[in-house]
Parts: sequence; C-alpha cells; structure tokens
Amino acid sequence: MIVDRLRLGDFDISGLREGYFYLDGGAMFGVVPKTLWEKKCPADTKNRIRLALNSILIKTPRALVLVETGIGTKIDQKFRGIYCVEKEPGLLPSLSRLGFRPEDIDFVINTHLHFDHCGGNTFRDENDKVVPTFPRARYVIQRGEWDWAKQPNEREKSSYLKENFLPLEDFGLVGLRDGDSQVTEGVEVVLSPGHTPRHQSVKVSSQGKTLFFLGDLVPTSAHIGLSYIMSYDLFPLETLESKKKFYEQAIKEDWVLAFVHDPLHYFGKVRKKNGKYEFASLISGGDSPGEPPPLSI
Ligand SMILES: [Zn+2]
Repeated sequence: MIVDRLRLGDFDISGLREGYFYLDGGAMFGVVPKTLWEKKCPADTKNRIRLALNSILIKTPRALVLVETGIGTKIDQKFRGIYCVEKEPGLLPSLSRLGFRPEDIDFVINTHLHFDHCGGNTFRDENDKVVPTFPRARYVIQRGEWDWAKQPNEREKSSYLKENFLPLEDFGLVGLRDGDSQVTEGVEVVLSPGHTPRHQSVKVSSQGKTLFFLGDLVPTSAHIGLSYIMSYDLFPLETLESKKKFYEQAIKEDWVLAFVHDPLHYFGKVRKKNGKYEFASLISGGDSPGEPPPLSI
C-alpha cells in the first residue's frame, strides 16, 4: 500500500511511503536481546531488518504540510548498497497520486537532519546543481539541530549529509525554530529529545482530535516498549523520559501516533496493560493490497 489515509477533525492526513531500507537489527533495538526483538522484526541473513521510509502529508484548510522527506535521489550506488535502499513507490509519485505537486507544499518539517529523514529535501537538477525539491515550502527545522548537523561529531558524521540541508539556505527556505513552536494553525513542532539533542516531533490537532508524529523517538510500532531504544540514540535516557511523557499524554487524550519507519503501520495508538505500554492497532496498514477508505477518528 502506498498511501494510508485518515480524517482528523477538519484535516486530511495521508501516510506516504518513499520506499524501504535495511539497518542492523541489533543496532535498531539497543540493549533488547535478539530473542525478543526478532519475534516482532525478523532479521535477514546479515542480521538486518527492513524499515520503511514513511512521510505524512497534512492538509488543513490553510496549508499543506509534509513531514519528513525520506532518503531522496542524490545517493550513489555505494550508499544504496550499504543500506539496501528500495526506492519504490517513491515520495513524489505518492504525492502525485494524491493530486499534489512539489510546488503545492507550504511547509516541510524534518524531525531531525539524519539522511533518512531529509534526503528528499533537495535533488540534483539537470545542471548537477543541488536545489530544493519543494520550491515554495518553508523547511521547519530546530535551530539546535541545524547547528549540530553543520558540525557533526565523528560518530554521526555519516548520517549528516550536508547536501540534504545546506542548499536550502541559499534559497532562503529555512525556517529555524527554538523549541516548541506553531507551524500553522493546528500543526506544532514539539521537542522530543534523545535520538539527537534537539529532535522534534509533530503534534497535529483539529476539533479535539490529536495525531502525534513520533519521528525517531519511536521509529516503529515494535519500539513502543520503554526499553526498546535504538543504539543510534545519543542520549537514551532522554529518549526514555520523552517516551514516558508523551505516552501518558497520548493515553489520556486518546492520540493517534504516526511511525516514520514502520513497514506495517503508518498509524496506531499506545495503551497500558499490566503496567506496560503496548501498541494498539488503529487500521489495517502496511503492505496489504488496496486503498482503505479514509477513516474518521
Ligand atoms: Zn531514522
């Protein structure tokens, strides 16, 4: 399935999929033993698990907002091989299927600037110049993340590819934010640190309903458990605190959650059972054939 859709109050929310890539299963689940995580995410012979590159499109009465842009098209064969990148169905074809062109997007939000979240921010044009993919959009990024990405440490250097974000500055399209901040009516970026120091999630609210795009705070539904924290996270104990804080709000206010790397579910909920948090399915998602009817929640 390329697209999964739901209606949130006055807003239309669509899940879009650029494609898939593979990461080491052990790194994806941190201290959790393989005997536990492989039940949820089976690994291939190289111990890798398949992850989706999901974005969401938020259509409000005022604006069109795209959250995350995947890996993009600037990668070379070597990169493609390391991460085993599958580029189907593609972000722009998915967007076009919904009837939108890149120039229709008003805001692009990157939860952070690792390559699998902002690679599609830019592309190489016919003159081999790296230019913005969404020429009218304001790209909403935390200032702290921007500064961090411009001078990456040795451990993260291979994740921060400057051509994914620096060229936006030349076109005057960068909208840096300091902490929690409204993007447009009903759409807010909210700090959710741990994966990176200034990682942000996206809170979408309309008519008393809320959707929360977690980003790499909780990359898949298999990561709902509190100890299921990626080795990639720079500050795992901050991730833990962020998870607890947002789960409690999510349960109290009945939020829908959106997952950036889940191959089976764009959306879901969290519930607490016997003191443990667990995933609750919302609608059929993932790879099943056919287009579901938009769901009102
Ligand atoms: Zn990621």
